[in-house]
Amino acid sequence: MGLKVAKFGGSSLADAAHFKKVRDILLADEDRRIVVPSAPGKRSSVDIKVTDLLYQCNRLAAAGKNIDEAFDKIVERYNGIAAELGVTIDLEPYLSEVRKQIQLGAGEDYAASRGEYLNGILLADYLGWDFVDPQQGIFFDAQGQLDSEKTQEMLGALFAGHEYAVVPGFYGCDTHGKVKTFSRGGSDITGAIVARAVNADMYENWTDVSGCLMADPRIVRNPEPIRYITYRELRELSYMGASVLHEDAIFPVRIAGIPTNIRNTNQPEEPGTVICYEAEDYDSEHMITGIAGQKNFAIISVEKAMMNAELGFGRRVLQALEEEQVSFEHMPSGIDTMCVVVAESSIDGKKERLVSRIHELCQPDSVEIHSGLALIATVGRGMVRSKGTSARLFNALMKAGVNVRLIDQGSSELNIIVGVDSLDFETATRAIYRAFVVADQPRW
Ligand code: ADP
Ligand code: ASP
Ligand code: MG
Repeated sequence: MGLKVAKFGGSSLADAAHFKKVRDILLADEDRRIVVPSAPGKRSSVDIKVTDLLYQCNRLAAAGKNIDEAFDKIVERYNGIAAELGVTIDLEPYLSEVRKQIQLGAGEDYAASRGEYLNGILLADYLGWDFVDPQQGIFFDAQGQLDSEKTQEMLGALFAGHEYAVVPGFYGCDTHGKVKTFSRGGSDITGAIVARAVNADMYENWTDVSGCLMADPRIVRNPEPIRYITYRELRELSYMGASVLHEDAIFPVRIAGIPTNIRNTNQPEEPGTVICYEAEDYDSEHMITGIAGQKNFAIISVEKAMMNAELGFGRRVLQALEEEQVSFEHMPSGIDTMCVVVAESSIDGKKERLVSRIHELCQPDSVEIHSGLALIATVGRGMVRSKGTSARLFNALMKAGVNVRLIDQGSSELNIIVGVDSLDFETATRAIYRAFVVADQPRW
């Protein structure tokens, strides 16, 4: 018998009807023996995720306010699901304990993690599977980073003796044994870590779309699903904003050579996207694999005549950023100009200090910071082999009337990144999609 780890996202566990779909999916394949649930997500676009309600409770408690009214909404969500499923477990003691601890000031990570914890308890009871707490098997180091070695050593053993197990996503424990969460969307990471620790044959990530799509469905109408993608390509896409899978969910399974399959809980018959180490054998019918992007970047542009001949110039510009604890995303440079692209939020309140420090360290002719930049990555393993990729891309942007403010053809030969005005972000994304996906479809 094989072994598959199946992670279900918040929208896949938002209500009792979804719990039933999840059970059907699990029972349809006997290899699916470990399940990683998220907290109940939104039931509609105006709903609030349980995780967000928990963060809200924590903020109230931290401000010395009573959390009862806010926490009651959480109680309602779980009790509603439990009643409709007809489970026998009494959630009351668990809910009361969580309410008490948050009110007493257990902290943000504890509060946020309880969405997954409570959902795990509920799902384990509904399925009749064992509950395994990741606080005993996923470890963070003193810097707050995942301690992969210790986790890998301990986590596998935690599943011994549990033929069928439910392990909540999103959290583990810090060096003092206290609950610590991953960043938002982190249940994807839990699934990947668990898949690696138990040496699964497949990591299934069940969500509300039929796989990783060639573009964000909120921008492009009905984008085509990607059937096969390499881990490297997906890393580029998810780093740039294809939010279907957390970017840190890639490394654990990639190292272990375990494929990931992104599937749709609402359309389980669809094959979804398979992410594998090498997808050379699976040639895509399109020249590109996908498009992703994000707004809210700024360019720091430093000009100085003959800077190319000045030893250590680049290092000093970056030193100014380092002193202000700002990390950079890209660094396209010319002969007399050097540009550094950073997230706008990372230089909030630091702009003046940064500019004057660059002046001090580098004596440039000018330093300017331009905000309102969006970056769009066009990614594809096939791009190196195809002629005219950039021509097609820039032509499409020109025809759409989009001004390109920055170009960075990644050294990985896997992507071309363009920087455009944030206001042009959606138009530019659609223009690129049309040029590569719609335009190259066979016309009969
Ligand atoms: P889950 O709750 O299952 O973890 P998420 O909301 O984190 O799901 O991720 C799925 C969502 O990601 C989709 O509903 C979609 O709106 C969004 N998304 C953004 N870019 C893409 C893409 N390229 N392919 C698929 N989904 C995408
Ligand atoms: N529930 C957490 C969040 O909303 C983790 C997750 O869903 O993956 O971010
Ligand atoms: Mg997610």
